Amino acid sequence: MKVVVLTGAGISAESGLKTFRDSNGLWEEYNVEEVASYNGWVRNPGLVMEFYNKRRSQLSGVQPNAAHTALALLENKFDVHIITQNVDDLHERAGSTTITHLHGELTKVRSLKYPELIYSIGYKDIKLGDLCEKGEQLRPHIVWFGEAVPLIEYAAQIVEQADILLIIGTSLQVYPAAGLIHYASRKCKVYLIDPQAENYYGNSNIVIMKEKAGIAVPPLVKELMEKH
Ligand code: NAD
Repeated sequence: MKVVVLTGAGISAESGLKTFRDSNGLWEEYNVEEVASYNGWVRNPGLVMEFYNKRRSQLSGVQPNAAHTALALLENKFDVHIITQNVDDLHERAGSTTITHLHGELTKVRSLKYPELIYSIGYKDIKLGDLCEKGEQLRPHIVWFGEAVPLIEYAAQIVEQADILLIIGTSLQVYPAAGLIHYASRKCKVYLIDPQAENYYGNSNIVIMKEKAGIAVPPLVKELMEKH
């Protein structure tokens, strides 16, 4: 049985990482447009790098929460694929093994000119003048606003195969990720966990839980493992 999990910033909120939708267009005191868009990078690459250096450093000091940990347990019973909009590594650190990062990863950087040259840097800083092996500037390995999401079609194929789809901590407002729910088959059981979840997503086979991830996900995981 295939369980697909679609997560957004809300699942990491209880670990201490802020969502930006909950803070009026600011993300950790920065204007989102300035630090998370290609135009922002062109205007002020130093500011953008400082922002992601701070996010990386902050990430090194937080831990996966009960929701991340419960999702990792699902692998004891199901074929599980996590598709996350998050750029943190909390699913990995909780023990999940099959994860697609739609919007990139904080712990990686890539060449500005040769996007296939991707490097893991852990929680270290990068700065102007740090270069790839071909001598080009490194940039955060992040999908910024206005950039294509290269893994979206792959993610849609994964969602199509789901018997159970869990959607956790996402406003379903950021496209194309938000459209993934529509790839679920008619027989797929969908659970939506978000304190601000809307009541209707065009799918009648849906259970909506208006609750924090850390509260709702562990008992749901237990229930699914007992029931199937
Ligand atoms: P989003 O659009 O996915 O919205 C966040 C959602 O989380 C909201 O619907 C909110 O109700 C919900 N939420 C808040 N606290 C919750 C909790 N305890 N449990 C469950 N749900 C909770 O995300 P966003 O913040 O608008 O960010 C959009 C994009 O920005 C992300 O997709 C990501 O690329 C990036 N981002 C990443 C991180 C991260 O990696 N941790 C954090 C912030 C933003």
